[in-house]
Amino acid sequence: MSDVVVLDHASMEFGGARVLEDVTFTIEPGDFVGIIGPNGSGKTTLLRLILGLLAPSAGSIRVFGVAPTAFRDWRRIGYVPQRTSFDAALPVRVDEVVTTGLVASRRWFGSGSSGRDVVSDALGLVGMTERAGDRVGALSAGQQQRVLIARALVSNPELLILDEPTGGIDPETQSSFYALLHHLNRERGVTLVLVSHDIGVVAREVTKLACLNRRVIFCGRPQDYFTNDPLTALYGTTVRVVGHEPPCAHA
Ligand code: ADP
Repeated sequence: MSDVVVLDHASMEFGGARVLEDVTFTIEPGDFVGIIGPNGSGKTTLLRLILGLLAPSAGSIRVFGVAPTAFRDWRRIGYVPQRTSFDAALPVRVDEVVTTGLVASRRWFGSGSSGRDVVSDALGLVGMTERAGDRVGALSAGQQQRVLIARALVSNPELLILDEPTGGIDPETQSSFYALLHHLNRERGVTLVLVSHDIGVVAREVTKLACLNRRVIFCGRPQDYFTNDPLTALYGTTVRVVGHEPPCAHA
């Protein structure tokens, strides 16, 4: 099977300032890739390059074998943006938000199955079937996040890209969120790219870790990451890795 994303010595400059330099790595089918790095290290820029929203200043990028700027088969890619919250008064239902993902991918017009079926399948996958008719603004942050994931999943993408998806979500909701990603990756074979600040959680979940600080500081198996060298290169000398405990149970 061909590679999903290939970055080959890709660099990006804005007004002469180089924010990504000589980035080379490959995302293979079935990978669950975590991209971590401090603020301003180029994570979002990297996603924008993969999504064809920017063209690299140097080097090349291929998505399913094609330069992203020439790529047309966008239903193969789902994208969940950084946490967006919906206005509580927004008069839009959950199933309507998910349907916009179909229109974006044009699957509505080309698919044999009805739009309603695929919307309901996507909502089932994220555990939101019961909330299909609710106003999206009335849902909790974690539920809204699930709706955005369902929206990205309606086109049945082979690659799902998530940008800092757990900001503002409580730890319990985060763990069911990661269980959902695990299911999509391991059971459904969806290739995942997850940008996050949370090194501890990400390193536990992903199969491949890429650490950015303008350049790729580390790329490999997460278990090979927890030596001091890449962490120090990334965050400075004061970094200390601490485990996350589950939330305290109240008596
Ligand atoms: P991260 O997602 O890791 O926080 P970003 O990719 O958002 O980092 O930003 C990397 C650097 O590029 C930052 O210094 C940011 O200010 C700069 N940058 C990002 N987008 C633009 C842009 N459109 N124009 C100019 N500078 C930008």
